[in-house]
Amino acid sequence: MSTRKGSISVKTNDIFPIIKKWLYSEHDIFIRELVSNACDAITKRSTLARSQGHETPAGAVKIEVDKATRTITIRDNGLGMNESEVEKYIAQLAFSGAEEFVVKMKDMGNTTAKDEIIGKFGLGFYSAFMVSEKVEVESLSMAPGAVATKWTCLGDTDYEFSESSKTDIGTTIKLYINSDSEDFLNAWKVRETLTRYCDFMPYPIALVDMSDKEAKEEIINETTPVWKKDPTTVTDEDYKNFYRKMFPADQEPLFWLHLNVDHPFTLQGVLFFPKVNVNKPVQENGIKLYSKQVFVSDNIKSVVPDFLGLLKGAIDSTDIPLNVSRSALQGDPNIKKISNYIIKKVAESLKKLFNNDRERYEKVWEDIGLFVKYGCMQDTKFDEVMRNYVLFKNSDGKLVTLEEYQTAIPETYKEKLKDKYVYFEKNLSDESLRKQLLSEGIQVIETDQYIDPHFMQHAEMAKLDDKTFKFAAIDSEVENLLETASTTSDDIKIKEFFKHVLVGDNKELEMKLDVDVKNLKNASSSAYFKVDENMKRFQQMTKSMGNTAFSMPIKKTLVVNPSNTLIQNALKIWEKGDKKELAEKIAHHVQDLASLSSEGLSSEDKEKFVSRSQSLVQELSQFIV
Ligand code: ADP
Ligand code: MG
Repeated sequence: MSTRKGSISVKTNDIFPIIKKWLYSEHDIFIRELVSNACDAITKRSTLARSQGHETPAGAVKIEVDKATRTITIRDNGLGMNESEVEKYIAQLAFSGAEEFVVKMKDMGNTTAKDEIIGKFGLGFYSAFMVSEKVEVESLSMAPGAVATKWTCLGDTDYEFSESSKTDIGTTIKLYINSDSEDFLNAWKVRETLTRYCDFMPYPIALVDMSDKEAKEEIINETTPVWKKDPTTVTDEDYKNFYRKMFPADQEPLFWLHLNVDHPFTLQGVLFFPKVNVNKPVQENGIKLYSKQVFVSDNIKSVVPDFLGLLKGAIDSTDIPLNVSRSALQGDPNIKKISNYIIKKVAESLKKLFNNDRERYEKVWEDIGLFVKYGCMQDTKFDEVMRNYVLFKNSDGKLVTLEEYQTAIPETYKEKLKDKYVYFEKNLSDESLRKQLLSEGIQVIETDQYIDPHFMQHAEMAKLDDKTFKFAAIDSEVENLLETASTTSDDIKIKEFFKHVLVGDNKELEMKLDVDVKNLKNASSSAYFKVDENMKRFQQMTKSMGNTAFSMPIKKTLVVNPSNTLIQNALKIWEKGDKKELAEKIAHHVQDLASLSSEGLSSEDKEKFVSRSQSLVQELSQFIV
């Protein structure tokens, strides 16, 4: 038997221990590297054969895990290599690739970016040595008259060629697993790793557990993932099945978009809008990145902007460089283009859904609203398209766009409400005011999400169709819409009476409370709280940050309605003088009622309210008995 010895020409002597140490955490990537090499070899064989007018057998990759011999064997029926090719591509090229890797890693020093790229950089064939004490490559080239060859290497710079009895075209790589990597001798471990990295590789990958005599070949992957298919041939069920396969723990996705572009970069993919689970924090890493159907990473933060992080699915592109740090990626012009493309597609698909199936759009709005608003705030391009499709609930409970809201304003109020959007903040605004406005035909939009105060501020700055506009809280806008200047001569007296009772000479209260007298259209309403718009926003923002304990006191004005009978009576009782105490009770009660219909009472005020209610009702009953 003739053997020939050789030696790898690398300049960095310490390459082996360094790689072993660095890659310790992700050494399962050897499976990805070897299987993707096998797939590449199959593609090359069929391309070459086709160009020469030959047929090739269907590509297949087989992985045998054998506990008894402590080996993992990877077989392919790709183009194969002869001795000189093994020497050139495996011994020299693969090893010099590894050397280059070490040099680059050294350059990067001890940065975190280094950890991020480990496992993503194509260390290629060399990664086999991370788990093996010995590697054998047996190969028979497809070239006519080729002689099979066997290459053996112990992971240092020396190797040996010997004869091989291989008779079928292709390559077999046998890994003698080292004692640190025994885990990989379990079929389940290999299956798990294959599922992670090779789930969508283009040729069937079979796994055989040699320790189980009954075991049959098990095909791991789906060779044509939906993103590779022509969208016109893919059914809704196909997309849903694909989603289930990728995210088995999830509910059914809301909808999806199929990405397919060839120029100026290549990218295919499917992105899903997941059903948001409010009880679970938004799961990161929903989008998996593939390169030619090989799983590369589920950390694509640098490829898509934050707000798209909510989406799930797969994108496949060879144009996303992986061998550079994250900060470099963000400045990469290709990445910028890809990111913009994805943003544009997402916006377009939402717009299309809005225009073609408004009902469905409204149905999913609950889940995507937050995402859309956040997207508008984060990305100008997205904002330009999507702002007109942001929905708000109006007073009738219908979802409307800002434009639709504007168009619905009654003629008589158009002038007063030009460029204004009256909003009602659930839990903070006065419900009775909303009813009063509605009876005038004026709708208000409801805001209750934490993001809304931020979104409103953003939208005002960014303008809508180049026009400036303002959001105005319902309780700061009433002056313009429902109040008329009061004309009764009692106005000043009412104001003084309420001020005297509710504020008195309490300096602290004076900072928080003011009293005003204005006729309200609805005579049955005794009073409401008015809050300055800026204060209102500030209140919402501090609330949205969960900062209630430290929130600043907000100055409010109690607007008292002199055309309301209770107010008129209270003043009379006060002026008569013998039942001043009752008048005071009424004033406090009016204030509490205004609080109750807006943000509610503090627990201390609630207690006072209850006991006062009891005594008032009792007093009232005495008149009747
Ligand atoms: P890369 O795949 O990036 O080229 P690798 O280190 O993974 O780098 O592989 C080096 C080269 O070895 C490949 O380009 C290919 O020419 C050859 N090679 C590796 N595995 C196989 C295989 N299973 N069949 C045929 N050639 C292979
Ligand atoms: Mg490779």
